[in-house]
Amino acid sequence: MLTELIVLRGGRVLDPSQGLDEMADVVIEAGRIKELGRDAGASYQAGDAVHIVNASGHWVCPGFVDLHVHLREPGQEYKEDIGSGLDAAAAGGFTAVCPMPNTKPTNDTRAITEMMISRAQEHGGARLMPFGAVTRGQRGAELTEMADLREAGAIGVSDDGVCVMNAAVMRHAMEYARTFDLLVSQHCEDHDLTKGAQMHEGAHSTQLGLRGWPRAAEDIIVARDLILAETTGARYHVAHISSFGAVRLIREAKSRGLRVSAEVTPHHLLFTDEALLSYDTYCKVNPPLREAEDLEALRAAIADGTIDCIATDHAPHSEIEKDCEFEAASVGINGLETAIGSMFQLVRDGVLKPMRFVEALSTAPARLIPDFEGGSLKVGRRADITILDPEARWILDKEALRSKSHNTPLLGRELMGRPVMTMVGGTVVYELKT
Ligand SMILES: [Zn+2]
Repeated sequence: MLTELIVLRGGRVLDPSQGLDEMADVVIEAGRIKELGRDAGASYQAGDAVHIVNASGHWVCPGFVDLHVHLREPGQEYKEDIGSGLDAAAAGGFTAVCPMPNTKPTNDTRAITEMMISRAQEHGGARLMPFGAVTRGQRGAELTEMADLREAGAIGVSDDGVCVMNAAVMRHAMEYARTFDLLVSQHCEDHDLTKGAQMHEGAHSTQLGLRGWPRAAEDIIVARDLILAETTGARYHVAHISSFGAVRLIREAKSRGLRVSAEVTPHHLLFTDEALLSYDTYCKVNPPLREAEDLEALRAAIADGTIDCIATDHAPHSEIEKDCEFEAASVGINGLETAIGSMFQLVRDGVLKPMRFVEALSTAPARLIPDFEGGSLKVGRRADITILDPEARWILDKEALRSKSHNTPLLGRELMGRPVMTMVGGTVVYELKT
């Protein structure tokens, strides 16, 4: 007989959408939340039609949403594909992920968006909500057919991997995207200022003899785009913010009520450019790891909500692209399965309160996606749920990763805090076996 009811019993329910932080049961029926409350599940007995999950000692949260991943399909399936990427997402506690369009070919048409979504549906697991490209082939010149992309299921547009450098193109893109309520996510980098760059420009890049990405390359684009966002009224989003100057600009824009948002990656919240002193290619990333004052500004901004959400920028690369000379190495860190275990450090250190931690990973990114009902455990909502063990200690083992790639500086490190169950529409898509 089919299981009809799932009862998550005795967990600490943290739901920022309702300001709820209490010990409670969650009852799920037909893929949706039926009841939520202190003893909501007490009357149910385990049986053929009732499945009881003991959640005591665990956090029960709205499903985590990652606004920025690279799943490499179509075109580079040796690094990752939609199936392995969605498996990695589920194991990392994510119930929905938003892949960037810098695939091969570029996701700049309805056909590719539809193909990606149908591949994800065949595979099952975490939801896939793609970004389409801003410009054809991400070449920065001609706009894509955003109406088609939106209709096919794209939730936003971005040329991530490269910046939309031309201000006129960006302005038209914002005007066009606004008509369809698409989020415009920008990879903020003035490419004229970063030619040949290998790491953050500062004392360490000088010491290592490597050319650097100056903060100005990021700040200039953020400043320009905020002006364009103000004149067009578009929903503008800064991808992977990394400099203290960009944080200051976002804070100022928000104080004036602009509809702008930003995301930060776990690695920018955890590491500085000191990590590059050993020429560790696993820490080579774009935008680069910056300095202590940037890290402190990013931490303060994610804590106070100036930066809306945490996004992994999951960027799988094969060993050939990473185990090589520093200058030849590709940029990017594999992040879906380590985000929770690494970010929990900020909770333990008191940088992020538990509620804000959950919000930055669920309710806040969900709010930025048009017509998306995720990010909440309100009665009646789809049961997209992430359950965490806040006390788990574990060593990140390369062989245990679901991702096809292993490019993370956290291999072999001890992490604390771990997803133990991920549920999408009431179906368990990941469960930690102990
Ligand atoms: Zn990017």
